[in-house]
Amino acid sequence: MQADSIGERVVIVRGSGSTVWDAAGRELLDATGGGLWHSHVGHGRRELADAAARQIAELEYFTTFQEFSTDKTIALATRLAGLAPDDLNKVFFTSGGSDSVETAVKAARLYHRRRGEPDRTWIISRDFGFHGAGYGAGTLTGFELMQAGVGPNLPDVVKVSPPYAYRAAELYGEREPTDFLIAELEETIARIGPGRIAAMVGEPVMGGGGVLTPPDDYWPRVREVLSRHGILLVADEVITAFGRTGSWFESAARGMKPDIITTAKGLTSGYFSLGAVLMRDEIGEVICRETGFFHGYTFSGHPVGSAVALANLDIIEREDLVAGAFPMGDRFRAGLAALADVSTVGDVRVVGAAAAVEMVRDRRTREPMPFPEVFALTARIRDEHGIIVRPYAHNIIMAPPLVMTGDEVGRTTAAVVEVLAGSGA
Ligand code: PMP
Repeated sequence: MQADSIGERVVIVRGSGSTVWDAAGRELLDATGGGLWHSHVGHGRRELADAAARQIAELEYFTTFQEFSTDKTIALATRLAGLAPDDLNKVFFTSGGSDSVETAVKAARLYHRRRGEPDRTWIISRDFGFHGAGYGAGTLTGFELMQAGVGPNLPDVVKVSPPYAYRAAELYGEREPTDFLIAELEETIARIGPGRIAAMVGEPVMGGGGVLTPPDDYWPRVREVLSRHGILLVADEVITAFGRTGSWFESAARGMKPDIITTAKGLTSGYFSLGAVLMRDEIGEVICRETGFFHGYTFSGHPVGSAVALANLDIIEREDLVAGAFPMGDRFRAGLAALADVSTVGDVRVVGAAAAVEMVRDRRTREPMPFPEVFALTARIRDEHGIIVRPYAHNIIMAPPLVMTGDEVGRTTAAVVEVLAGSGA
């Protein structure tokens, strides 16, 4: 987030593995995966620099519009179709996560229109969901600040409650969480009219909302409701795909059975700006009928990005980084267990290589700690211990490169515990 109110910038100039250096020569351990959960293979990978350089020398770019494509773009699409669950074999490339989400929304609406249901324009998303900053994706995002002061935003968007175990009492009252959420979804669909809804968009595990894991029966039951009403399900896997939470696609692990999956971030580990949308064969086929899918970005399917993504996926496979997210999660859980006694810590959540510490002013009322205080704590963790963690709303987020060592995870959790232990005074 760009904001001059946050003071002087820490200017990062170099990186290797899970370590980065700032302009003053200070060494910092990066427990954020490059800041935004995206650096799966870590910093300074020569192999990826070489893949980019080779591709630039061979062919820096050519469009993938209409009758054109490039060999690397096709190779990457084929590779992704092979990794994706079920029949999600049609791949559309974008420049990043927001573009992927907006592409999914357009595809869902067009799919229904081309099949004779033009009234299906509404999109359901969730409070605390994060889907990007573009006008479309930003409207789906469940943080009001994203929409404030810049409207009108995308029409025909409705939000439902998220699965949020720590705040179950205030969100669902006495009701069993999944029962409440399914009833709310059904009521929302009935209110808008099932024949007017195109899709629901949701992260399998909510990232920006604070690593919120749904109950096991949540996604299968949501899927059943949506299928019954002919509504598509879009799994926003911009954070979770390619290993962050211990699976190639977390939607498969959670029983979502999505019709469309959006990706970006870990696809290239941040070495190039690239996203990919994976769709069921039938959706790809329907949206390409008639006048085709008149949609695309100049840098869709960029050959350099595609070459980098292929090399990045090679590393993820070769080093078994997807499975490695689980032992890393265990280390985070063990290291952060000491926060159980800290009065300003409301909840600690860990899913694979993603962790959130929810900060509160008061454990009894669960009142969130104001952002400037959370920000100040993360600045202390950085300045006093040389470790970068990220403040996000009232959560402290850790999502390191998947190559972070056990010792480095231990250093991270020890620093977080030490600083937070003194935060309640
Ligand atoms: N979806 C999710 C789940 C995200 O976390 C993000 C970014 N953090 C986006 C979409 C947007 O991606 P981008 O910033 O690349 O547009």
